[in-house]
Amino acid sequence: MNNIVQKIHCPNCGSEAERHYISDSQLTRTQCPTCDYLMINCTRTGKVIEAYAPGIHVNLRQQLSADIK
Ligand SMILES: [Zn+2]
Repeated sequence: MNNIVQKIHCPNCGSEAERHYISDSQLTRTQCPTCDYLMINCTRTGKVIEAYAPGIHVNLRQQLSADIK
């Protein structure tokens, strides 16, 4: 259980947010307490597993995985 937490700026609202590197499951979870933004990525492939932002709850898998490459 060696999760790393990194402070980042929320891509949705620009407030301080957190990115958790979950080594066990090889996932990265980005979450913002200010606006409820959430994104979960696979660290091996960079693919978006789940993405949520208030008001724009859409399936971003295809869009974002293209950006991340
Ligand atoms: Zn935010």
